[in-house]
Amino acid sequence: MAMRTIGELVREGTARLATSGSDTPRLDAELLLADAIGADRTAVIAHPEAPVGVDGSARFREHLERRAAGEPVAYLRGLKEFHGLAFAVDRRALIPRPETELIVDMARAELVERLTGSARPAGTPPVVVADVGTGCGAIAVALAVALRRLGMLGEVEIVASDISPEAVDLARENAVAHAVADRVGVVAADLLPPAGLAVPPLRMRAEVDVVVANLPYVRSGDLAGLPPPVSFEPAAALDGGPDGLAQVRRLVDLLPGRLAVGGVALLEIGAGQGEAIAEMAAERLPGWSCSVSRDLGGLPRIGRLERAGAGRQ
Ligand code: GLN
Repeated sequence: MAMRTIGELVREGTARLATSGSDTPRLDAELLLADAIGADRTAVIAHPEAPVGVDGSARFREHLERRAAGEPVAYLRGLKEFHGLAFAVDRRALIPRPETELIVDMARAELVERLTGSARPAGTPPVVVADVGTGCGAIAVALAVALRRLGMLGEVEIVASDISPEAVDLARENAVAHAVADRVGVVAADLLPPAGLAVPPLRMRAEVDVVVANLPYVRSGDLAGLPPPVSFEPAAALDGGPDGLAQVRRLVDLLPGRLAVGGVALLEIGAGQGEAIAEMAAERLPGWSCSVSRDLGGLPRIGRLERAGAGRQ
């Protein structure tokens, strides 16, 4: 077969994916071709006339067929951009979603406030963050990188946990890849790691100042109706039980025993769960405050639960 150009392969790939149910056939084809030839998407768009070698074409066609069969682009590339960083992703964990970037921004704001709002004499213990159900480590690692840019990571310890040992391995790989493994300890645990568990290289107090979590929150009955690519992701990362909030509720019940006075939990929820999280907080966390933040699409996305305490209103 004659050698094809980048432009021809993108056109062919786009046509193939347009008939197989992708909402973004051209984008998918560009990303898969870029990956197949070891270039980035910008180069693919800029050089339609460039020839593509046999190996690149073969890899592109193989991935195109897998994409046509529903496999997510992120798993085929082994990569997903999140909060301006490239994360290694594969079937060990959920692919990070753009709406989850909000939790990183909110957590960063909480930490900046804690680190700049009052004096921190030498010897003040680090602020402790727990990312519960970390998956590929996206929230913990993106938060660590954001804090490092602000020069604040040295005063923060982040413990990232996941019940899946495979996800723990992946999150550790991402912490190492982004050079924050000295401040992000990853550990296998059902929700919060037990108080007192050593999480090297962290010192870790038993109390946590800021909890962040994107736990599974899809109602079990809704799982089958999700788009086909989602079926490639671990069901345990999505299945939130009959009302979607089983895992969130379990975590909420742990908070009084583990969250420091004045501490905050930022919990990602589904668009229809804003009222449910507020009710849950009112019922299970008397005296705490609860607010719900919306994502860029205007949908309820993060429940913010604050344990009222000394000096913080
Ligand atoms: N937003 C995800 C989805 O709809 C759900 C993620 C989750 O359950 N935490 O696929």
